[in-house]
Amino acid sequence: RSMSSVTIPPPACMLRPLEAPLRYLFGPGPSNVPPRVLAAGGRPIIGHLHPEMYEIMNDIKKGIQYAFQTENNMTISMSGSGHAAMECAVFNTVEPGESVLVAINGIWGERVAEIAERMGANVHRMVKTPGGYFTNKEIEQAMQKHKPVLFFLTHGESSAGLCHPIDGIGDICRKHDCLFLVDTVASLGAAPIFMDKQNIDILYTGSQKALNAPPGTAPISFNDRACHKMFNRKTKPVSYLFDMTHLSNYWGCDGKPARAYHHTGPVSGFFALRESLAILAERVKRYTSTFSVILQKKYTDLRLPSVTTIAIPKGYDWREMLAYIMKHHQMEMTGGLGPSIGMVMRIGLMGYNCEKSNADMALHALADALKNCRKSKA
Ligand code: PMP
Repeated sequence: RSMSSVTIPPPACMLRPLEAPLRYLFGPGPSNVPPRVLAAGGRPIIGHLHPEMYEIMNDIKKGIQYAFQTENNMTISMSGSGHAAMECAVFNTVEPGESVLVAINGIWGERVAEIAERMGANVHRMVKTPGGYFTNKEIEQAMQKHKPVLFFLTHGESSAGLCHPIDGIGDICRKHDCLFLVDTVASLGAAPIFMDKQNIDILYTGSQKALNAPPGTAPISFNDRACHKMFNRKTKPVSYLFDMTHLSNYWGCDGKPARAYHHTGPVSGFFALRESLAILAERVKRYTSTFSVILQKKYTDLRLPSVTTIAIPKGYDWREMLAYIMKHHQMEMTGGLGPSIGMVMRIGLMGYNCEKSNADMALHALADALKNCRKSKA
């Protein structure tokens, strides 16, 4: 046989058409994408370095500034999911050996602690059980003890269903010369956040939750304090792809007359993100989750409006209930994540999904599962 002949045959699956079912995405994300955003993502591609693309990126920057309530010039979208923003924030603002303080009350703090450890930071963990929260006093005491250059907090803890208070923490960080990094992947667009007013130094989110864009892009913003730290480092960040020196140029934030090629951004993803940010800007009111309002009337306001955690009903197998709801209602709800596995089921009605009719459907599916799933004798 000649070297040029094909020896691996075309796979049978590739000769069949693509199949993807229609589903109600009522879990913690991704959420359903409205037709206008899907249509934007389906438009013909243009080059990532065409002037028209720069205009779209400039629009995205303005849309993120509105969504974050910030005037920060250093505001961009990552080419990647929420994790890309997590890594970008840590890799650029921390150098190996520096102290980082991480608040952990669910999975996301632990994830950031690991990211920071991998790049050689000296990580200090403050830990609460899922759903717990930290007082400003506890945070300040830990800051005095560990003298971190960066403090991480999750605003919307999607594994625990908690929306963490933010007020006052930015001021504590300033007092102790520490940068304040906040994760709003699961909360932006559903729970209020004010980057500038709340003195948040670095803020990021994801596209696929309350913003209702497809997964794969992640807005992030750095204020002047964060820029000062990340652009005066002695070492280069461990990641080339996530190096803000390059990304700030790609997004036209570095004041240089020309943007150079760094990587090829996800053009369709940016089209869709632009449109989802436009929808947010068009709304007078921010989204709140109808479902949460109905379910959470009785609870404290620390409940996360976008993702509701509910205790697993006594005697039921949560996996069986979720499988039943998927099979009979084409509806995704999920179990816990990380430390909350086996403790809760998680239901999210975010942005476009946040309608009373959807809340009624979700409650109906839950009631149906309670009726038809096995209740153990224990
Ligand atoms: N942070 C939080 C609070 C999240 O809920 C998620 C996604 N579940 C992430 C970070 C990570 O985002 P992604 O899955 O888009 O990488």
